[in-house]
Formats: sequence, structure tokens, C-alpha cells
Amino acid sequence: MSQLDRRTLLKAGSALAAVGLTGCSDSKPANAGPEGLMVAAPDWNGFRRGLNGKLYRPGETGYDAAHQIFNPRFDSIRPAGVVRISTVDDVRESILFARKNKLVCVPKGGGHSYVGASTVSNGLVVDVGAARSISYADNVVTVGAGAKLYDVHAFLDKYGRSLPTGTCPTVGIAGLALGGGMGVHTRSYGLTCDRVLSMQVVTADGVFRTVSPTQEPELFWALRGGGGGNLGIVTSFRLATIGAGKLGFFRLSWPEAKAAAVLRGWQRFAHDAPATAWANLHIDAQSNGTVSVHAVGVSTTGSAAAAAAQLESFVGSKATGRSITVKTHLEAVKYLGGGTTSPRTGFLAGSDVLRGPMDAATINGLIGAVKAAARAKVVGSAILDPLGGQAAKQPAGGAAWPWRSALGVIQWYSGLAPHPSSTALRAAQNFLTSGHHAVAKASAGGYVNYVEAGRSVNSYYGGSLTRLRAAKKKYDPTNFFHTSYTFS
Ligand SMILES: Cc1cc2nc3c(=O)[nH]c(=O)nc-3n(C[C@H](O)[C@H](O)[C@H](O)COP(=O)(O)OP(=O)(O)OC[C@H]3O[C@@H](n4cnc5c(N)ncnc54)[C@H](O)[C@@H]3O)c2cc1C
Repeated sequence: MSQLDRRTLLKAGSALAAVGLTGCSDSKPANAGPEGLMVAAPDWNGFRRGLNGKLYRPGETGYDAAHQIFNPRFDSIRPAGVVRISTVDDVRESILFARKNKLVCVPKGGGHSYVGASTVSNGLVVDVGAARSISYADNVVTVGAGAKLYDVHAFLDKYGRSLPTGTCPTVGIAGLALGGGMGVHTRSYGLTCDRVLSMQVVTADGVFRTVSPTQEPELFWALRGGGGGNLGIVTSFRLATIGAGKLGFFRLSWPEAKAAAVLRGWQRFAHDAPATAWANLHIDAQSNGTVSVHAVGVSTTGSAAAAAAQLESFVGSKATGRSITVKTHLEAVKYLGGGTTSPRTGFLAGSDVLRGPMDAATINGLIGAVKAAARAKVVGSAILDPLGGQAAKQPAGGAAWPWRSALGVIQWYSGLAPHPSSTALRAAQNFLTSGHHAVAKASAGGYVNYVEAGRSVNSYYGGSLTRLRAAKKKYDPTNFFHTSYTFS
């Protein structure tokens, strides 16, 4: 598969005229028109001939690999077609084909959506994975929307540069940046979306647009944190890089009996520690029915001893397990990501955004939810990531990411077999539900990159929802990009 050709991309950008299309996608079969009228079956072969990239249809060689995403739980979702794009024209052609044939159309980047939002039954998947070229000049990196996080870091490392991103090496830059992007640099440098300077995007009308604080500023704002799949298919990003300095790491662990004190201490740390210090907290259900408690911390000053001591002092007791290390940029990326690749993994997860510190009863409820999971032999974790610091500030040009004043994000995560039984899935869901219930009083909503089935999509957007709806009305008036996981 060839890389996205920048010249083709630029040519397409200048040549595309706005096309006044009507109609909107829905989940009906392509040949079932309104009021029972039959519409012509999609001309898949004609569509295939017009593509530079490849189309995979059910039953064809390569379809099984093309339609899978990271979480095997979604393997049973079978799109009517998957386009692996080769040029930006393929994105536009796919959108026009989906519109004409009333197919639901979803973009796919790294394929790590928690709910399988980058695949769709009977619809069209537009896989931008081949658009993975990366270039660098003057502290700015230009990244094709198909690039994966490890590739971006490995490339930038050659220039002594980095980016604030999440940790999984195979997460796509597209889904990550469009929904926010949290990681160890969040407090020092903000979210991934905050570093985006401009994007190239094909909107629902098939028009190729460059968006920035001065070009289509409302769409630029909306795409920075408004979540993937809502407003168009992004083909590339320009991002402001940061220095690839050494990172100081700490890992502290405490016995289960200290869990409440550690949670209180972590909350103080999230609120009061310097922006250069970051620590996430893991409260994990163990298979022997107990709960383990540990924090992984990073200091972007290069030395983590002071940050570790501050967390211990807020907890009010020394950790029983303790390690402090220093890592270069790429060592840190590999350490945090568990390597340079990641195998497909089954899981169920969700989130709550903490509007402020949890009170004692809420903390006890959280611990109780993990303990109950441990007793039920569910592999369940509450993973708390701090916000604050630079993440509390709106970046220049603004961003739709809604949780600037929040203390942090709790991720409820349950590991599962690739194809779990309905009993295992129900037990994992019970853990998530009891977690949400336990912290409801302190929760402002959810983090859209940890989107969850069965929860109102609008609850991921807080105070940005009204303005996002206005951007949607302007750039996707017929609600073409519409699935169960798009806001409305
Ligand atoms: C193992 C793992 C670790 C993670 N770690 C972190 C972390 O450390 N920090 C963090 O913030 N998040 C993390 N996440 C969450 C991750 O940020 C989201 O799942 C993200 O949406 C994945 O992006 P993707 O491109 O890989 O996924 P995809 O499934 O391809 O896309 C996600 C959403 O974006 C849409 N989309 C994809 N490409 C485009 C495009 N080009 N244009 C428009 N829309 C598009 C899709 O339709 C879908 O709705 C993690 C997820 C996993 C599975």
C-alpha cells in the first residue's frame, strides 16, 4: 500500500469544488429506500475502479484482516466494505459513494476505539492507515492521519523532539488527537489536541479543507477534542513538538489497607503538585480477591525523587514498594507502551471525569467497587490520571475538549478474553456500572476517547456541546457522519 502522496493531496485540495449533496446516511440496507421504494444496489465494482487504494468486500481475500480493529470483541461486526485509502481522493470518493448509497460511513485510524466506532455493520469503513507519512521542520511535525504513536515518537526522536501523547504504541494519532490525548506530558504541555496547529480534513460534502485558527476556525476548534468520526475525515495533522528531554520515573506501591489514604493523597497531588509532575494511580482487583495499589509517576524535569516524596507526604505514609529511574525519550515511550507494538486485546472500559476531589464516602465507594470485582474474580482496575497544569489552559485558537477545570479522569478497565462469554462480559459491565455509581457525585461526565456503550454520547462534551452542535450543523448539516457514538 503506497503512502499518501502529498502532491496528490495538495492537488486534490485545490481542485475540489463544493458539491451540494443531499441525503444522509443511516443504517438501513442500501437497497431499502424510504417507504419501501427500492433504490439501485451500490455499484461496488465501479467504486473499486475509481479508487487508488483497495476495497475489501466480505468474502474477498484480505477482508478478514481489513475489517478487524484492536479489540477482538468487535470481530463480528462486518462492514459492507473497507477502503484502505492510498490518496486523499479515496477519502472523498468513499464519502460520495457512501452518501449516494445511503451507507453509514466511519473513518478508521489506529482502530483502538473502545466501542468499535471505527467499524460498522453493513456500512463503509474508510481506513486512513496508509496515510502515515511523517515530516519535520522548525519544531513542527506533519503527520498523516494513519500514523501510530510509536512511529511518531521514533521519528521525532531523531530530531530530539517529542509530543504529548497517550502511551499505547499502536493507538492512532487521529483518534487520539481528535478526542484529546492524555499522557505523562499532559500537565507539562497539555493534551495532544492542544498541540495541533492545523489539519486537513474532508467534510461530509466531499470538500477538502485546511483548518487552523484562521481557516475554518469553528471546525478547527471542534476537531480539537470533539471526538473522531463526528465532523469529517482528517487526513493529516500539523503539531507543535516539544523537546525530547529525559524523564524521571517513580513507581510507588502501598498495601490495600492504605487505599483510601493513597486516593486522598493522589487527589492533593493532582491539585497541588507542580505542573512538571504527573502521577497516575492504579487500584487493581487481584485474582486472589485482594486489591493492589500503586502509582506510576513522571517528572519532566528529569528527576522524580521530589515528586515521589511529595506524593508520599500527601498520602501520609512511605510507600512499601519504591523505585526511581531516569529514561531517555524513546526508552520512556517503550516503557510506558510496553514495547513498540501491542497485540490485539479484549477489554471493556469506560470513564468518569472528576470535577474535583472525591469525599470520603465516594473514595470508599470506589475502593468497594474494585474490591467487589476482586471477589467476583473480575480483572478490574480503576486507573486515575491527573489533569491540571497546562491541561487546565485553553490553547491558542481554542479547543472543544471540555474538561479544563477537572481534577482528573478515572478509567474503569476490565481485561477480557478476545471473545468473552456473555457471563464474563456481564461481570465486566457490572464492574463498570458499580464504579460509575460509586463516583457519580463527583463525576462531570466521561472522556470521549474512553467512550462507552450504553452511556449518553452527549455526556462526553460538557460545556462544549452547544458549540459543537453548531459546528456540526454548519459542516455536516445532513448528519452524514452519524452513528451511535456521534454527538447529536
Ligand atoms: C490499549 C489502549 C491504550 C490507550 N491509551 C490511551 C492513553 O494513554 N491516552 C489517551 O488519551 N487515550 C488512550 N487510549 C484511547 C485512545 O485515545 C482512543 O481509543 C482513540 O480514539 C483511538 O484512536 P485510533 O485512531 O487508534 O482509533 P480508531 O478506532 O481508528 O478511531 C477512534 C475514533 O476516531 C474516528 N477516527 C479515526 N480516524 C479518523 C480520522 N482520520 N478522521 C476522523 N475521525 C477518525 C473513528 O471513526 C472512531 O470514532 C487508549 C486506547 C487503547 C485501546
